[in-house]
Amino acid sequence: MPSSWRRPISPGCRISPAPRRAPPAEERGHGGKYAITLARSSCETFLQFSARRDLREKVFQAWIRRGENGGATDNRALIAEMVALRAERAGLLGFASFADYRLADQMAKTPEAARQLLEAVWTRALAKARAERDDLQAMVAGEGGNFALQAHDWRYYAEKLRKARYDLDEAEIKPYLQLDNMIEAAFETARRLFGLNFKPVEVPLYHGDARAWEVEDSAGRHVGLFIGDYFARPSKHSGAWMTALRDQEKLAGKVTPIILNVCNFAKPAEGEPALLSFDDARTLFHEFGHALHGLLSDVTYPLIAGTAVPSDFVELPSQLYEHWLEVPDILRSYARHAKTGAPMPKALLERLLATRTYGQGFATVEYTACALVDLDLHRLKDAGALDAAAFERRELAALHMPAEIVMRHRLPHFQHLFSGGGYAAGYYSYMWSEVLDADAFAAFEEAGDAFDAATAKRLRDFIYGAGNLRDPAQAYTAFRGRLPSVEALLRKRGLADVA
Ligand SMILES: [Zn+2]
Repeated sequence: MPSSWRRPISPGCRISPAPRRAPPAEERGHGGKYAITLARSSCETFLQFSARRDLREKVFQAWIRRGENGGATDNRALIAEMVALRAERAGLLGFASFADYRLADQMAKTPEAARQLLEAVWTRALAKARAERDDLQAMVAGEGGNFALQAHDWRYYAEKLRKARYDLDEAEIKPYLQLDNMIEAAFETARRLFGLNFKPVEVPLYHGDARAWEVEDSAGRHVGLFIGDYFARPSKHSGAWMTALRDQEKLAGKVTPIILNVCNFAKPAEGEPALLSFDDARTLFHEFGHALHGLLSDVTYPLIAGTAVPSDFVELPSQLYEHWLEVPDILRSYARHAKTGAPMPKALLERLLATRTYGQGFATVEYTACALVDLDLHRLKDAGALDAAAFERRELAALHMPAEIVMRHRLPHFQHLFSGGGYAAGYYSYMWSEVLDADAFAAFEEAGDAFDAATAKRLRDFIYGAGNLRDPAQAYTAFRGRLPSVEALLRKRGLADVA
């Protein structure tokens, strides 16, 4: 899932392909020039780095107005119709609203429960974002700028301030993160937590880049087969994901799982080591967490095996696994310089980890506003006369949304909700999952050991190995001894100490 909002489109991994194209300017008949498109990657980069305030404003205004400019690309009437039809469907099925219908079989169960969690985060995020705004405004003034910071200025000054505070260069980090070492680090974590061993095996695979490992338990018994397909190639979807080629089950005798992880890391030149960014390494751990959910599955019915769990629970095993990448023990052993073999210097590691909470006020506000508006929109009983833009304005005013921050996805182009319905009344689930993973890792911190055996056993019995055997809230309680609390997430995002 998700970097800041870490995995915006997914659950991290289920990303649809981006078609490969010519560079945008050439594609539009302006070879030799530059084109800024309305794609997030294009706009955000421009807003971060362009010193031209007038152009930032032009790009930003075009970007946030997608879907409400009149004509064939205006989505507002369609949105009203979709929201009304969803409300009608929920009513026919006996639910009070579409959100009630959608959440009934999720871990959250009710829109009230999801909202309560979001609100606990919202107040702190708002305070943090206001403090960030004041820092940025001070930077504007310090440079002699005689204007109030606006939404199109935020990313530019935030990037400048980040550089001034942390001076972190990705190129400094990469030589320490070799792909093969990071794979070994993920395996070693699984060995220490769950007693698994990974042995390379030669089996016929679909592509020369793919590799396979036989997975055994601590007694040498066969657990499953793990396939890693890590390098980008033209025929591959973008993004990263996990797939089960064969699910675990016991219905038709003992069937062991065959699990695939696919990533899109850059393939090195012949003889050179493959190097990862820290985000890449995090993605590797994330997908490997999903893989373990498939590999450790120990249920009878294939229908409830592995990752066949509610969507606000499925990212727990993956997001939780990311935490072990940052465990000093793991990094000290596996983050070693490709040429010298020296471990990553402590100061560099500390700077890297310190940047994690930077800008989280902004990131949390722009995300959480979307999640709250989504829930409220899908609690409407009669949406026939819905004016999406007016609804959005009213909601944001009631939330005291800062004028300098715009929803990460405004309603007229909120694809999670309206391009298919996968996340309709479900956008909260990214935050829900993050509350779970932060709270779950805190169980190891409280035990005083990132590999505490008793905690790891409960984690395996009730989460990684349990598929959809139990209601997620019961499964989580069996692991943790209680339901999740937001405190660990607030600490992780640096929001715990704001007023
Ligand atoms: Zn995922």
